[in-house]
Amino acid sequence: MWFGTIAACLAVVAVLNISRTGATVVKIGVLGAGQLGRMLALAGGPLGLSLRFLDPDPEACAAAFGEHVCASFDDEAALARFAQGLDAATLEFENVPLSCVQALSSLTTVYPGPVALAAAQDRLSEKTLFSGLGLGVHAYAPVASAAEVHGALSHVGLPAVLKTRSMGYDGKGQGVIRSDTDLQADWDRITSHGRQQGEASVRCLVESMVAFERELSLVAVRGRSGEFGAYPLVANIHSGGILRTTIAPAPGVAPELQRLAEAHARAIMEHLGYVGVLAIEFFDLGAGHGTASRLLANEMAPRVHNTGHWTIEGAQTSQFENHLRAVAGLPLGSCEARGHSVMVNLIGSVPEVRELLAIKDAHVHIYGKSARPGRKVGHVTATANDAQVAAAIAARVQALVDRA
Ligand code: AMP
Repeated sequence: MWFGTIAACLAVVAVLNISRTGATVVKIGVLGAGQLGRMLALAGGPLGLSLRFLDPDPEACAAAFGEHVCASFDDEAALARFAQGLDAATLEFENVPLSCVQALSSLTTVYPGPVALAAAQDRLSEKTLFSGLGLGVHAYAPVASAAEVHGALSHVGLPAVLKTRSMGYDGKGQGVIRSDTDLQADWDRITSHGRQQGEASVRCLVESMVAFERELSLVAVRGRSGEFGAYPLVANIHSGGILRTTIAPAPGVAPELQRLAEAHARAIMEHLGYVGVLAIEFFDLGAGHGTASRLLANEMAPRVHNTGHWTIEGAQTSQFENHLRAVAGLPLGSCEARGHSVMVNLIGSVPEVRELLAIKDAHVHIYGKSARPGRKVGHVTATANDAQVAAAIAARVQALVDRA
């Protein structure tokens, strides 16, 4: 009892210190300095939050938007320099080594912390967490060799998806298995990404290939005191494992479906003691399956997420601002949508910016990264009061993207 009271007092003191922003600058550390870090910095400025990044890439695109400690994530001396004087820290890249976040937590407050990160870094622990909390999941089995894939297929069936358990992103480290005739070749092809990342033995998951109707995601936020907010479910279109377009809010989402997705997010976040923004990607099997069983949880991201970029112009408070508010112990902002948005990713190249800017109500974000195939180099969000108008604006953007 007395312990709980003391802990509550300490929590209040920590939050009060951080909220005294008048003259002093509140400094938030961010592991990673990619486009997510850059958009966090842009959101933090007006709140008086100043960001410091740790990233090994001297060209990291958020570096110009805050202090940049340019060092590897496992450089202990650099981590100590990075942590010096921070009010709190967070991450924008979930493949940061767990040991780095563990070490950082002994130097400053880190949200999300090591427990949440560990759960999200391994597809097996993620799926185990989902099913343990009652979320629907498709059939899956852990495998460590091509020989084991054979046995797993009898459980998950064909076609199946083979994914590396860690370090995968944007379709890297995963592929479809259509027959069991040459599993060694499938294994070698799909796990080559893991080996390039330096993993000595690549552990994988075999999943059943889901014939979903569409892909939905929920971006939710939880504050230090347990305050919870969630943006509307959005519909996502992927191609080649990479997100191309997000429609926000997703069309035809009944309030019960939104409530179900929010209940799932809340359960995960409370279980992990999570603070900050968390995104969950679902496969929607369609209305024929009934509200309670139509969502299958595919994966979660313990950070701001590409399917939440539309919130910059399309919601009352952006995911970036809400993440920083949560991490800094400040009150959360409203997650309500302002009308309709369609976000189009710029992948591999940027169309003529002049032409993009000439499209009314198309909001352009260029990340300042060098272009290369498959790389996310920007996004454009079309906004309107009407869903069809937003879609028409996005179609004009898409036409320029396709021409680039
Ligand atoms: P992930 O890295 O798990 O988010 O996968 C990237 C994309 O690949 C997903 O958004 C889907 O479009 C597709 N995908 C991944 N896993 C499956 C699956 N088990 N069944 C069908 N499509 C999948």
